[in-house]
Amino acid sequence: MKFKKITACLDMYGCPNRCKHCWLKITPNGNLTNDDLRFTYQAFRPFTNDLEIVANYREEDYAPNYKELWDLSVELSDNKTPHFENISYWRAVRDLDYIPWLYNLGVRAAQLTIFGNEETTDFFVGRKGAFKEIIKTIEQLVQYRISPRIQMFIYKSNINQLSFVEKLLIGLDLENRCKDFDKEFSFFLHQGSCSGENAQFYEDWITLEEIKKIPKKLLDYTVIHFNTASKEEIWGKPENKVCENLVQDVSTLNIVNNTPIFYIDNNFNVYPNYETPSEIWLLGNLKTTKVEDILENYKQNKSIGQKALTEVSASKLVKELGNFQSERLFGESDYKNLLLHKYCLAKMKLDK
Ligand code: SF4
Repeated sequence: MKFKKITACLDMYGCPNRCKHCWLKITPNGNLTNDDLRFTYQAFRPFTNDLEIVANYREEDYAPNYKELWDLSVELSDNKTPHFENISYWRAVRDLDYIPWLYNLGVRAAQLTIFGNEETTDFFVGRKGAFKEIIKTIEQLVQYRISPRIQMFIYKSNINQLSFVEKLLIGLDLENRCKDFDKEFSFFLHQGSCSGENAQFYEDWITLEEIKKIPKKLLDYTVIHFNTASKEEIWGKPENKVCENLVQDVSTLNIVNNTPIFYIDNNFNVYPNYETPSEIWLLGNLKTTKVEDILENYKQNKSIGQKALTEVSASKLVKELGNFQSERLFGESDYKNLLLHKYCLAKMKLDK
């Protein structure tokens, strides 16, 4: 069995944060070794001529030996994707070599997430000091001519923070400071997908009423970022409208492709990177299941989630689980995944 490309991402160290919106779900941090990364390489090597090995799928560069791990992943990969624009502000404020190292790797924009003022941001990140670290990191980025891209997750409960954020951005003067090195500052607001930890905010989910409260400047930034002025394209439609559309949708979905990306947690459980890595998507364990069987499980849609995707239409999900009374804003595919997750959890309960 051969794939055109396989990307294997091993969660070696985890993440310093405990974000309340984390779509990957909060799981205990690990402490895996370089040999564990080599083991992952050996496991997948026979099944593709284009193997990429990644030393994390949660916080980039959280590992104490992050530089060594980057070099090792380059060595083990046939073709290494350039460093993502996701960076670690935890690392940036503790290691002054970090931002120049990113610059030398070619990183020219870096994404940071805020939720409002210091108290609100620290609350959502789940760690005191996060907001101050983000502000310090922004300064380091600008110093090294890397443009910050700031995203803000919005809920009903933090929409009152928007005027603070607007003033913060004006005070930091990031638009002009990025122009000084010919880069564009970017900011956007969105609600994320209602999956992983973020599912806990369903009751707090934004509606069109919250969108009306967005200050013009922040709305303009968001429109530029998404390259559309359509509120529907940015934040989706009210849940009742999404339900009305999806109830007509009898299609199912097969996510199997020839270039899969696998998430491997620090217990070596393997998941396709389609949704929150969880029991629903489990394909097997690299230490106890033959890799052939893990790949076959992927190809044959044998995880509970993949099986449900190929068998249960959006129409059935919406009829059983949709909320036709709700005004919460969702994109259609995010909403389908939310219902699918609920459907699989209920099924697993029944099967136990
Ligand atoms: S969202 Fe990112 S930074 Fe926050 S807990 Fe999840 S992986 Fe860590």
